[in-house]
Amino acid sequence: MSLILEGVAKKFGELQALKGVSIHLKKGEVVGLLGPNGAGKSTLMKILTGYYTEWEGSVVFYDKDLKTERRTIQKEVGYLTENNPLYPEMYVKEYLDYVAELYRLKNPPVEALINQTGLEDHKKKKIQTLSKGYKQRVGLAAALLHNPKLIILDEPTTGLDPNQLVEIRKLIRNLGKDKTVLLSTHILQEVDALCDRVLIINKGEIVLDERMENLRKDQKQIIEVSFDYRVETEALARIPNVQQVRNPHDFDYELQLKEKKDMRPAVFDFAHDNGLKILKLQLKNESLEKVFKSLTS
Ligand code: ADP
Ligand code: MG
Repeated sequence: MSLILEGVAKKFGELQALKGVSIHLKKGEVVGLLGPNGAGKSTLMKILTGYYTEWEGSVVFYDKDLKTERRTIQKEVGYLTENNPLYPEMYVKEYLDYVAELYRLKNPPVEALINQTGLEDHKKKKIQTLSKGYKQRVGLAAALLHNPKLIILDEPTTGLDPNQLVEIRKLIRNLGKDKTVLLSTHILQEVDALCDRVLIINKGEIVLDERMENLRKDQKQIIEVSFDYRVETEALARIPNVQQVRNPHDFDYELQLKEKKDMRPAVFDFAHDNGLKILKLQLKNESLEKVFKSLTS
């Protein structure tokens, strides 16, 4: 185990922001800390990075106790904060050199990280001229300069457009190959796209700790389809792998599938064979959403 938390609790005045969090993280895992706003994600992360020193419980990182060896542990932890504060007036490479100097690093891999985070063409630009996605890359590169074993990313993808999302996700996935990554998000799809494991946090408590593959196993897949004409539900039920058909309104249908296999091509064929036009067609993974809603509502 790379990181062991036992009964971690934190109060802000009367507010119990964390109520005894116990989790174990392994090396090479990408773990999502998923929860609604105010659940305690940032608070937990600030404890792990050594930012807060007043809290209850214990945190052990590779056999070192965070309460007594905070400085040593901080050298092994990379942290991208929620609002990713950068110096807008600095140039990208200048900023990374500056951070490396602050950390007093001997041979900081600045160029390698610029490469790895796709900042080659931007290293001579001022940070203030970069898009949000590229600013995130700079923050990520800065958090990796000291080659940390544990990487903590607080809402790394919030506010990115879909293209930037794909790129940043790829980067984070790659990090998980030889490091432990803990990232927070309030967006379920983020965890689904990125993580090996999910921790759902609600009101300061971990309410679910599960491997994504187990969650996906129980998932029911549903195809939502709309045709330009009415169809007999019995006919739709004869499409292979379809277990149940609902007709919520008019020409809209929901096909619940028996097993996890994309049956959209079969729905296309069905439409073609019956002279129908498809107006809408999408595949939904329902149970993950249900789990999240029921645990956090
Ligand atoms: P999340 O990151 O999941 O949105 P936070 O960890 O930021 O949640 O906050 C958890 C709870 O603790 C919230 O109710 C928040 O208002 C409160 N909180 C966070 N930081 C402070 C602080 N420095 N002082 C007082 N209350 C705080
Ligand atoms: Mg937060």
